[in-house]
Amino acid sequence: MSHAVHESHQPASLADRVLESTGESAAQCYQCGKCSAGCPLAEEMDYSPSQILHLLQLGTKEMEERALRSEAIWLCLTCETCHSRCPKEVDLAKVMEYLRSESMARGMVNPKAKDILAFHKSFLDCIKYTGRLYEVGLISDYKTRSWHFLQDLTAVPRLLKRGKMKFLPHLIAGRAAMSRIFHLTSQRKDNHE
Ligand code: SF4
Ligand code: SF4
Repeated sequence: MSHAVHESHQPASLADRVLESTGESAAQCYQCGKCSAGCPLAEEMDYSPSQILHLLQLGTKEMEERALRSEAIWLCLTCETCHSRCPKEVDLAKVMEYLRSESMARGMVNPKAKDILAFHKSFLDCIKYTGRLYEVGLISDYKTRSWHFLQDLTAVPRLLKRGKMKFLPHLIAGRAAMSRIFHLTSQRKDNHE
């Protein structure tokens, strides 16, 4: 059985896939709840950070789907507060990031996360093509995806006046390397599917 798993490069459970991709083990968590107590978004989440790990530990198809369909994975700010408090040094932000991409790949994105997903895609595209944050490109792309054309429009003149937004992107020198990273990452993901 383990041979078959090795041959297909397909770990048995979602927790195994998280471990293989991020190095973070859900099994390490002993559910002390310190991460959830310190998480600034826990109250808004449908499952707290420690509950997300518990779903992975339970490991049934139903529990894995609950994690992948949760809103919580999209609300995570990657602030690392949980990581700094965890006695087992579980880096939940990495777990959440992996679950987001898995949720997208399996078409299980929580409908409430529609705008967050639009922003997530716009942000990644921005980094992929310019190598760094390009606010005007990011905002235009996000508005096109989300249809929130008028949102925050009144802030634009102030941002321009203070030089916080540039019309042209600053392109980094290593854009080819950046594209390669995106290419290799998506290839790696495809191999795991
Ligand atoms: S990294 Fe995410 S899960 Fe952890 S404390 Fe911050 S928002 Fe909460
Ligand atoms: S702080 Fe660490 S050990 Fe405690 S519940 Fe959170 S992830 Fe698990």
